[in-house]
Amino acid sequence: MLEQLLNIIAPDECLVCGKEGVCVCQKCSGSSLLVKKPACVMCNRLNTTGKTCPNCYAKSRLSGASVAYRYEGTAKDLIFAMKYQNHRGAMRYLAARLPDPKYQAAAVVSFVPSDGRSRRQRGYDQAELLARRYAKANGMEFVALLARVRHTKQVGQSRSNRLKNIQGNFICHKSVIGKTVILVDDVITTGATVGECAKVLKLAGAKRVWAVAVAKG
Ligand SMILES: [Zn+2]
Ligand SMILES: [Zn+2]
Repeated sequence: MLEQLLNIIAPDECLVCGKEGVCVCQKCSGSSLLVKKPACVMCNRLNTTGKTCPNCYAKSRLSGASVAYRYEGTAKDLIFAMKYQNHRGAMRYLAARLPDPKYQAAAVVSFVPSDGRSRRQRGYDQAELLARRYAKANGMEFVALLARVRHTKQVGQSRSNRLKNIQGNFICHKSVIGKTVILVDDVITTGATVGECAKVLKLAGAKRVWAVAVAKG
């Protein structure tokens, strides 16, 4: 509570040089935030669009990803501050720097839910906060679509029920028939998680799934 209050009153300061005002000042952002070049987010092969290459698409069903930064240095520090220190300034800063949406017609914005334990510990989901701000900034609809599956809970359910809209660790609890889903996450590492999400969203009827992330590891 006190921490939240301090976050509101205390001005941000640059995480790199300490200058007051914003959590990374303009001077430092140019030199310490490494822009991520467009690539297939699954195999890292560079391209010009961020589209998933045909091989990786066959496995993941993710159409592509737009990523702001490489997961190094200051980007890593900002994400840590947002994720583990509830640094709202860092969250706002990163949300404002997410790449523009590639698709807006019939598109909704959602997020990759973090696993239950870390969410319970922190009391908030940073990917959801990012997605909500991103949707608002781009005049798009935000919808919470995915939940993590607790596999132990499925014992005793019929097989068909168990398989319905469940893929790996995720379940989609709304219909997204014909929609493009813009899926926001903080960090993409191997792409396996976002690939699982894409598959379950496709099962739920999504026309296409495109990821938007702060950084790629
Ligand atoms: Zn600075
Ligand atoms: Zn690929």
